[in-house]
Amino acid sequence: MPSTPRRVFMLKVVSGTAAIAAAGSLQAAPKKVEENEPKAVSLGYKHDSAQVDTKKFPKHVAGQKCTGCMAWLGKPSDAWAECDLMVDRLVSGTGWCSSFVKVKG
Ligand code: SF4
Repeated sequence: MPSTPRRVFMLKVVSGTAAIAAAGSLQAAPKKVEENEPKAVSLGYKHDSAQVDTKKFPKHVAGQKCTGCMAWLGKPSDAWAECDLMVDRLVSGTGWCSSFVKVKG
């Protein structure tokens, strides 16, 4: 079957659309934040809220953790999720940083 200009055009559109979709799916998923990353250090972030230096961060209250923070973007049951403050990183649900703001309600 000979290729008509319309057929060639449609093949280009379909393959171009597939390439765009593939490129979108190649975006890297956020990785877990490291406690020694500059942003984490500046916020006093710890994966385990119980490990926070309470002398350095006296506003820390036992029991506070990322899943109870306004900036948490995951579900309450997620172990790790994105956070409004740690761009392109996942924070631990049991974590804490000095920007903690308790979810109301
Ligand atoms: S802003 Fe909230 S969710 Fe983000 S790291 Fe700090 S305590 Fe956790």
